[in-house]
Amino acid sequence: MELLQHYSFLHRSCLSGFLGALESKYNPANPYHSNAHAADMANSFGFMLGHCQIVEMASIPELRCASMLLACLGHDIGHPGTNNLFQINSRHELAVMYNDQSVLENHHAAELIRLLSQPYGKNSKKLFGHLTDSVMTKERKVMVDLILSTDMSKHMQDLSDFRLRLGTASFNPVTQTSDQQMALSWLFRSSDLSHSSKPWNIHRAWSDRVVQEFHAQGDEEKRLDLPVSPLCDRDGFCLPKSQAGFLQFVCIPVFTEIARLEKLIVSLAVDTVEVPNRTSRSVLQAVRKVTTDLSGRQMPNTSGKPTVVHNFVEQRKQLVAESLSHMNRIRVESRSNGSEKRGSSGQLAQVWPEKSPRFATPPGQLRLGLPAPIKSKRQSQSMGNVGEVGLIKGMSFGSERYRDAEARNEVLAEVLQTCKENCLRWKDMAEDLEDD
Ligand SMILES: [Zn+2]
Repeated sequence: MELLQHYSFLHRSCLSGFLGALESKYNPANPYHSNAHAADMANSFGFMLGHCQIVEMASIPELRCASMLLACLGHDIGHPGTNNLFQINSRHELAVMYNDQSVLENHHAAELIRLLSQPYGKNSKKLFGHLTDSVMTKERKVMVDLILSTDMSKHMQDLSDFRLRLGTASFNPVTQTSDQQMALSWLFRSSDLSHSSKPWNIHRAWSDRVVQEFHAQGDEEKRLDLPVSPLCDRDGFCLPKSQAGFLQFVCIPVFTEIARLEKLIVSLAVDTVEVPNRTSRSVLQAVRKVTTDLSGRQMPNTSGKPTVVHNFVEQRKQLVAESLSHMNRIRVESRSNGSEKRGSSGQLAQVWPEKSPRFATPPGQLRLGLPAPIKSKRQSQSMGNVGEVGLIKGMSFGSERYRDAEARNEVLAEVLQTCKENCLRWKDMAEDLEDD
């Protein structure tokens, strides 16, 4: 709710009704594919979207941001706790309906769109009721495409396409629509895998949950005399080995490209700050001087302690604007002493209001307002309350953890690093088990 309530065009009364309906469509008995996973993914997406600066750089409209967050919340809606292969092999009606093609992803997308077409709240309004049909068609397509992109059966080929495109000189997610769609789609898909790159205790809790779900499916497959799907057989299963492989071959390659994307967008940001022609040479020089300091990521304040400057791209833009309209407010020339020392914290606060753009909200403050998942008796017994903080509070990436990385504009590189550390930990555990 907190992520979405910024959008004034989404009526609050309608929003809570909609979110309630959406949440009720998640099966609380699913250990993994629950409302908590949807909330966690939406927060992860908001976090990554904000930290790679694409929203500000490409001026992505608020409506599109809201649509993408709604797609996150609805991306696993109605999940039965079994995978596509199970639906196909058991000839489930969903597999028949969708001709064995991205069965569950089609189902999730259709369910979300169905919910969006219903009225909510005391005024009986639709969440996007104010949009024209043509605008709604576009937003619907965005949501459906994002959800369909989470089908892992096309993962390897799609990732290789993304890697190839990222490596070309013409890749530009700021100016090229197709590149932007590709980048957003991969931010979305990586958010779905994001527990692999969260602090160990949270990643471990999600890993236990996903395995419980897989094994329950395997049990059911055996009972129905169906082929047991990969990873679903509890006999002979080794969690550390399985997770080490999943992180090494699926997650790390994805976050490697995401970190590359972040680097690329930040470099584009540095290259494309616009300075109007009428800017006087001296102001331009002054701006350059300050932004050079900014790109050094730390500016001294009067207390002598370093002040970490966040979101320098936005600050550069603001600084240019401020320089033009309030030239005599910015005293950056050669005053390196006294209270008007360049970069003094008071001046920084004046020129760069501390308020960050929406998506740069520190992770710890991001919340969806979805309540804790209702756990079945079996779940509560087997899992205790592991990872609940990370699961529900939302931004389980951890705010403190990325402070330095944020100053360097390398948050997503740090996310990749955490994923690598988790992978090593699983490998160590697998080796220890083999030694025993
Ligand atoms: Zn998911």
